[in-house]
Amino acid sequence: MIAVVSQWVIRSAAWLVPRSARAEWRRAWLSETWHYAALLEERGLEPGEIRARLWRHCAGAFADAWQMRTEDPAVAGVRGALRKPGFCLALIALALAAILAGSRGLVRTRSMIGQNYADPGRLVLISESGIMMGERIAVAPRLLEYWKAHNTTFAGLAGYRWDQKGTAWVTPEFFDVLGTRPRRFLLREIRTWKAAGNDAPLGVIGRLLPGASAAAAQNELRDLADDYRFHLKRFPFPQAAVTPLVGRIRQPLYSYATLCAGTIGLLLVAACVGVIADLRRSRRIRRRYWAYFCAKSVGVPLALVLAIWEFSGATSITLTGGTTFLAEPFLTWLFIVACGGTIWWCLADQKARCRACLQRLQYPVRIGSPGAVLFDHAGTELVCCEGHGALYLPEISSDYVQGEEWTALDSADAVPR
Ligand SMILES: [Zn+2]
Repeated sequence: MIAVVSQWVIRSAAWLVPRSARAEWRRAWLSETWHYAALLEERGLEPGEIRARLWRHCAGAFADAWQMRTEDPAVAGVRGALRKPGFCLALIALALAAILAGSRGLVRTRSMIGQNYADPGRLVLISESGIMMGERIAVAPRLLEYWKAHNTTFAGLAGYRWDQKGTAWVTPEFFDVLGTRPRRFLLREIRTWKAAGNDAPLGVIGRLLPGASAAAAQNELRDLADDYRFHLKRFPFPQAAVTPLVGRIRQPLYSYATLCAGTIGLLLVAACVGVIADLRRSRRIRRRYWAYFCAKSVGVPLALVLAIWEFSGATSITLTGGTTFLAEPFLTWLFIVACGGTIWWCLADQKARCRACLQRLQYPVRIGSPGAVLFDHAGTELVCCEGHGALYLPEISSDYVQGEEWTALDSADAVPR
């Protein structure tokens, strides 16, 4: 049994090894594992102990295979290309172009910004509160009819329902209320429109009369619903909620754009601090160095936010105008984590680049004594492979330890850092 599992692990790890060396690598690891297992059994170890040791041994197969892969000339070539600033910017530009093409010209983002309904400010979504806090429920068709007959604040009310395949069922007034027959409704593509027939609950859209406010309409609908349900003793009664349509559709636009702008803003502030430090030290700005930093600081968050709008469920709105668990807490959390990661990467990548040619610094050398408190502090020195300078990075940062320092070796760019 142990031998079978070990074989399976080694055969899986072998897929990481470059094809030319794969068969030989697999043979060597399999025979080594077999001998190791035989040796452990000969020593009279407990089966549990043998199993644990073999697992550790097989985990090493993955590490070894991964190393083989990273030493492969093709991977080393990609890593070499990543050192160049142009390649990183080209990757970001490629990602943006792929998002643009894959989303058919940012169709969801465009439909969040532009509303092609007549007078969209008067359109509202209507639902009722559920038993749980924040829960919204769809409206019964009979209550909708009662509202239609007795309200004084709406020019029109209509109900709708949809399925995942792009079919929508709507009441006859639906297109009059919207003022058009849209291809997308609530950011959802609708392929077929059908007439709503049965008694299934509906999402409700209303067009307010000119001058009527959403709050007044909400109060009226609540009063009417109370009249409609006068015979009910159940508590709490569902309460009608009226939400402006445009604000609801643009909600993901505003929330993610704010987070994205915050990330870009923080990175640009970091760039300003760096530029001011440059001016203070040498009265000269390293334009290329900071232009590269600004380009990636804008490009990466922009690609992230467009990807989340176009390809994730962040823009999915439920029938009642609410959000799903995936849209609201989870994707917002994921986006905040991604923004934090972007800030970390932009700063770390910039720090590890040559101040003159922007290539990533190489050949790290450890200098100093680890643990030294007063003198000879431990740190790492990296150099530019084109000989522009060297960067010293201290292991610990403190007031009395020499800080991070760039030493220019090329007189053409002798700007200290
Ligand atoms: Zn350089």
